[in-house]
Amino acid sequence: AKEKGGNTFQLYHPEMNMRSLHWLNLETHLRKAVEKEEFSVYYQPLVDLGTGKIFGMESLLRWNHPEWGMVSPGEFIPLAEETGLIVPLGNWVLKQACKQTYEWSQMGFPKLCVSVNISMNQFHQPNFVQLIQDTLRETKLHPNQLCLEITESVAMKNVSYIMETMENLKQLGVQISIDDFGTGYSSLSYLKKFRVHTLKIDQSFIRDITVDEDSAAIVTALIAMSRKLKIKSLAEGVETQEQLRFLKEQGCDEIQGYIFSTPLAPEHFEELVKNNKLL
Ligand code: C2E
Ligand code: CA
Ligand code: CA
Ligand code: CA
Repeated sequence: AKEKGGNTFQLYHPEMNMRSLHWLNLETHLRKAVEKEEFSVYYQPLVDLGTGKIFGMESLLRWNHPEWGMVSPGEFIPLAEETGLIVPLGNWVLKQACKQTYEWSQMGFPKLCVSVNISMNQFHQPNFVQLIQDTLRETKLHPNQLCLEITESVAMKNVSYIMETMENLKQLGVQISIDDFGTGYSSLSYLKKFRVHTLKIDQSFIRDITVDEDSAAIVTALIAMSRKLKIKSLAEGVETQEQLRFLKEQGCDEIQGYIFSTPLAPEHFEELVKNNKLL
């Protein structure tokens, strides 16, 4: 549709940012996908380093586009955030995850705890605490089987509102973890104000612990700090035996990563739990 020459119509202006064009298109697809229910939820095991057993799972959104195939959340979550679509989408994931976890409890599985990513937009929707309460009631899931993952940057804006909301969530009996810990802009001061359940140490630190002294030092310090504060430490993105050994030596409590399993469709996750897979 693009031709050279003086007065020829140009569909694409040369200076037009390809990225914004792509996004424009993507937004249309994303809106349709919500209507057509092209989304599913995968589950990645969370493993206790003490027992080597699965104690829970993180719910991760998957978009199966009819032509494009699996679209990674890294591609569309930022756009979903920007357009506000993340609110209905995130609330849908929350409900699916709670429903699934309750179903697994009913099947006689050990008591699993499901971690659900909560975006800033979701956290700030009015009556968020009520929404959590309603979802738990509707799905019959026990509150202590639900953990909300909040990213550090989110947790730092509007501190007093966040503290109040987190306190109310705690009253409900749900757990809260700080996601991607170490990558945000926050000070550590809010850890003093509000005791979260788990710190998830970002995979960018874990990736380099066996090759980079600085990463190793940071991870060592974060684990030690967590222990002193009586907060659980969870290492994300663990891929190798060397990383695992290092984390065990440092007394890390829990891990998540390809070394144990990638995120899985529910039926595949089920297999691992049934077979009592150990790390
Ligand atoms: P996240 O919350 O930090 O999730 C962990 C990501 O690391 C997942 O990517 C997971 O597949 C990946 N991962 C796990 N273990 C390993 C490993 O050993 N090596 C490597 N290289 N990667 C590993 P995924 O599923 O592509 O999700 C990317 C991000 O999208 C998530 O990062 C999260 O920020 C966002 N996201 C996913 N689902 C949801 C959702 O339901 N709601 C919201 N708000 N965000 C979501
Ligand atoms: Ca997460
Ligand atoms: Ca994370
Ligand atoms: Ca991340």
